[in-house]
Amino acid sequence: MTYEIKHHLTDALLMSYSAGTLPEAFSVVVATHISLCDECRARLESFEAVGGALLDGDEAVAVSDDALEATMALIDAAPAFQKPANISMPDAVFPGPLRDYVGGDLDAVKWRPIGGGVRQAVLNTGGSENVRLLSIPGGMAIPDHGHRGTELTLVLQGAFSDEDGRFARGDVEVANEDLHHTPIAEEGMDCICLAATDAPLRFKGLVPRIAQRFIGI
Ligand code: ZN
Ligand code: ZN
Repeated sequence: MTYEIKHHLTDALLMSYSAGTLPEAFSVVVATHISLCDECRARLESFEAVGGALLDGDEAVAVSDDALEATMALIDAAPAFQKPANISMPDAVFPGPLRDYVGGDLDAVKWRPIGGGVRQAVLNTGGSENVRLLSIPGGMAIPDHGHRGTELTLVLQGAFSDEDGRFARGDVEVANEDLHHTPIAEEGMDCICLAATDAPLRFKGLVPRIAQRFIGI
C-alpha cells in the first residue's frame, strides 16, 4: 500500500541511521517510516551505496587507514536493532519493523492513561533517549511546547496538525529547539503516533509542567 507522505526524514537522520550511529529510540522511528516511504528508502539506499564504496576500498575513493578504522568502529558500535524486512500485513496499524519491536500490533500494546483521554506506552530501548506510542483522542490538543533536543513523531493512524502543517499516516515530524508547537489531533478517530525524544520537552504553561513530572515526557 502506498501513502501520500508529505513529511519526510532529514538527510542527517538517514545518514546516521545508515552508519549505525543513530540511538535505538530514533532507529525504531526511522525504520518504521522507511517501511512506509519509498522516497526515504531510496535516499537511504544511496547513502548505503556511498558507505559501501568506502568500505570496498574503491581505488577512486582515497581513504586513509584512520578513516577506515573509524568507519569500522562506527559499524561495530551499531545498535542491535535489525534493519527491517518489509512484510506486508494490509490490516495492521503497525508496519513490520514496529510490529517486531512491540511484539504484535495495536492489541499487544499495554497502554497507560496519562489524562484527558491521552494514552501512552513507553517502549523499552537502551540509552537516555526514549520512544513511546501515543494515542490522542480526535480533537484533543497536546499542550504548546518547545524542545531541548530532537523529537521525531511518526503518525500511524489518524492525523494531527500543528504550525508546520498536517501530518497523517506515514508522515514524520522532525522537531528541534527552533520549533514551538501545539499539535491537535484531527476529529474522527484517535491519532496514534510513535514519538522518540532525546531530551524532555519544554512546556510553556505551569500545569503541563507539573503533569510532565508524572507522565515523563
Ligand atoms: Zn519519507
Ligand atoms: Zn513536540
